[in-house]
Amino acid sequence: MQINELGGEFALIKKLTNIIPSQSKDVLVGIGDDAAVIKSPNNKNQFLLITTDILVEGEHFNKSWSTPEQIGIKSIECNVSDIAAMGGLPTFLVVSLVIPPSTNVEWCERLYQGFAYACNRYGIIIVGGDTTQGSVETINITLLGKVSDKNLCLRSNAKPGDILAVTGELGASSAGLNLLKSNLPITPYLEKKHLTPECRLDAAKDLAPAVNAMIDISDGLASEVNHICDNSNVGAVINEKDIPVHQDVLNAGKTLNKQTREFVLNGGEDFELLFSISKLDLEKLKQTGVKYYPIGEITNPGEGRFLITKENDRIPLLGGFKHFG
Ligand SMILES: [Mg+2]
Repeated sequence: MQINELGGEFALIKKLTNIIPSQSKDVLVGIGDDAAVIKSPNNKNQFLLITTDILVEGEHFNKSWSTPEQIGIKSIECNVSDIAAMGGLPTFLVVSLVIPPSTNVEWCERLYQGFAYACNRYGIIIVGGDTTQGSVETINITLLGKVSDKNLCLRSNAKPGDILAVTGELGASSAGLNLLKSNLPITPYLEKKHLTPECRLDAAKDLAPAVNAMIDISDGLASEVNHICDNSNVGAVINEKDIPVHQDVLNAGKTLNKQTREFVLNGGEDFELLFSISKLDLEKLKQTGVKYYPIGEITNPGEGRFLITKENDRIPLLGGFKHFG
């Protein structure tokens, strides 16, 4: 059977996970959250976080519309986003690079200037990596982080009755990508959101002590809501009218003759945070001043996962962006 007949990335991960040793008394959370959570040998109240991401030219970035600096920055941001989703802080990273031998040295230097810029933003130190030749530029980053037990946020902790909320406007990265792919003009806002997104580590520090479940929005809202529901064994209902969407995204939908909903639900790479929080803790969160948008509610598992559209239709919340789809 070919991978693309299996039913997507997550079906493959499940198959492969069964083959390997993946559990131990030191592993608090293994495969299946934004980052792994490992117990610290000499500190009971702090955990080690580990996350990794691969970016491939032509799949995740495109040299014809991204500068090497932009590619470098985005590679770091998408990893920090996963650490933020756990309620943690990033610390150290290793970066491995596959590059065709014909690649310009200056291109590599500028890529690393992008890494440096984003790492300086978060105080991350690069401590190693590997470089090798290959047919297509590929960047793999493994980022470590730390989190206190009080701040640790898992996908598995949502409770029926929780409010579901996001930290910012959705769909912009995907709308920007679709315009670029169609060779159409792109607004500065959409360009920024797609080419040099900033993750929400700033918001995570206020959210982490208050929320129940948290995840970063990297594969589209639909996919992330489903991850929380799968891991927490709950249902969810999302109100489309409450999802924050920038005017430029609405305009892009008109230009491209696509439903804005597609960018929001299935687009991905927004790098905002999605979280569930009890109604009582929402009052506490208000005092921190962190900006958030309630978009729905966690329900009992039997109630399924639904989107109430702007037209008041109740449609199943399926999918999200699928690799190998
Ligand atoms: Mg993630």
